[in-house]
Amino acid sequence: MPDAVAIAPTRSLALPESAMVELAGWGANARVPCRLVTADSPAELARRLDRRGTIARGLGRSYGDAATNRGGQVLGITGLDRYLGFDEATATLRCEAGVSLAQIIADFAPRGLFPMITPGTKYVTVGGCIANDIHGKAHHAQGSFASCVDAITVLLASGDIVEASRTEHPDLFWGCFGGMGLLGVILTATIRLRRIETCYFTQRAFVLPHLDAMLDALDEHDREFPYSVATIDVVAHGAQLGRGVLVVGDHATREQLPPGLRDDPLRVSGPPRVTVPFDLPQLSLNRVTVRAVNAVIQGMLRRTAPVGHYEGFFYPLDKIGHWNRGYGRRGFTQYQFVIPFERGREAMRRILDTIIGAGQLPFLNVLKRMGPASDGVLSFPAPGYTLAIDFPIRDGTVELLHRLDALVLDAGGRIYLGKDSFVQAEMFARMVPAIERWRAIKRRYDPQGVFTSDLARRVGLVEPA
Ligand SMILES: Cc1cc2nc3c(=O)[nH]c(=O)nc-3n(C[C@H](O)[C@H](O)[C@H](O)COP(=O)(O)OP(=O)(O)OC[C@H]3O[C@@H](n4cnc5c(N)ncnc54)[C@H](O)[C@@H]3O)c2cc1C
Repeated sequence: MPDAVAIAPTRSLALPESAMVELAGWGANARVPCRLVTADSPAELARRLDRRGTIARGLGRSYGDAATNRGGQVLGITGLDRYLGFDEATATLRCEAGVSLAQIIADFAPRGLFPMITPGTKYVTVGGCIANDIHGKAHHAQGSFASCVDAITVLLASGDIVEASRTEHPDLFWGCFGGMGLLGVILTATIRLRRIETCYFTQRAFVLPHLDAMLDALDEHDREFPYSVATIDVVAHGAQLGRGVLVVGDHATREQLPPGLRDDPLRVSGPPRVTVPFDLPQLSLNRVTVRAVNAVIQGMLRRTAPVGHYEGFFYPLDKIGHWNRGYGRRGFTQYQFVIPFERGREAMRRILDTIIGAGQLPFLNVLKRMGPASDGVLSFPAPGYTLAIDFPIRDGTVELLHRLDALVLDAGGRIYLGKDSFVQAEMFARMVPAIERWRAIKRRYDPQGVFTSDLARRVGLVEPA
């Protein structure tokens, strides 16, 4: 691949080479001691890999325990952040897996290129996006991250570095999507970027009075708009259960921008201007504040402007650094599930009723419609309705989530490991029968079970220690 564009490699924040530290997922609901080892070259990483048990960690944006390994090694890979080649003709980038989407946007958006698929934060690594086969607001139209990945190289437990693609070692390739870092360390990836004319979106908001109207609107507008996302009013119940605001959109052309924005259509944003400095006391998230913030969010969404910058369209939460500290010392969890369309409406209503009946006032939430699944063996996205909903950890939260697991399973759905902290192995295996096929791939590429994590042991992707 020709190096058509020369881009200086950027370095991440320097970390000590090895240190016993407390690590947590983004939900910060469990802080566990891990031996964090960093390396800034594949050779160094291979040399330092601890064969007694290890797991890769990107930017730690998974909500639960996917990138922690209690008492064992965690390989911080954000030092692997070099661009290795760029093909202008096909907009294909070859990079190390520790490159973040924020870095790609900062370097490529001014040239009219953007990540093809992005989650709701740009502070994620390419390796993390593959390991979770992340999805964005356009899953119904564009699929999950797998759809933009042509090839990866993987450091196996044996020390071998293997190239995997749809044609070379396809079992390893597809096992890595949704494979939670448990087949090896992804060192590099070849990904296709999207050509954009501007960094802005045309957008429209629809205010929907109840769940049926909301799901009807999602079904209808998803045929027309590539991007859509709804937010439910979490205090509405009874006949108004599921009311909320649906926002749909598409990339704006230069002509669609108001005159004031046309001079700098590819403007990128800087780092967040506001940061939550420390864990706020849990008291700050009581019923009154949750209701107040919910009302503010619903009000803001109703007033969605006709044209918006990618930062507000894709990454509204990135505007506040460390917003997760707002949930206090006990942290929070995000519960995300997908239910096939046939059972989606009825199951969604039962789940929302159960949450409201339990008195566990949830917080932020996102409702989307998903399209066809990728071939990722353990990939989460599948056709159906998906709801992601934040719960501050309180007494009774985990019990409620286990009740929700049973409802999701009963409706033929499953939960998303990238957000999960509490699902148990037996439940996960019932939700995801493909686990058996994935375990066979694991035995082929990591027979000694070198790659392991707290999540892997909890949900039964590896044998318990
Ligand atoms: C505000 C916010 C919004 C989000 N929105 C969405 C969304 O819309 N859609 C969605 O799908 N997800 C979403 N997420 C989740 C996030 O996209 C994923 O958890 C993503 O995997 C995080 O990437 P990371 O680099 O932080 O990985 P980490 O959290 O550090 O690790 C995640 C997993 O990837 C593995 N991994 C990381 N790097 C490598 C590597 N080089 N080789 C092998 N394995 C590796 C780890 O072992 C771990 O299992 C959101 C998260 C946040 C905080």
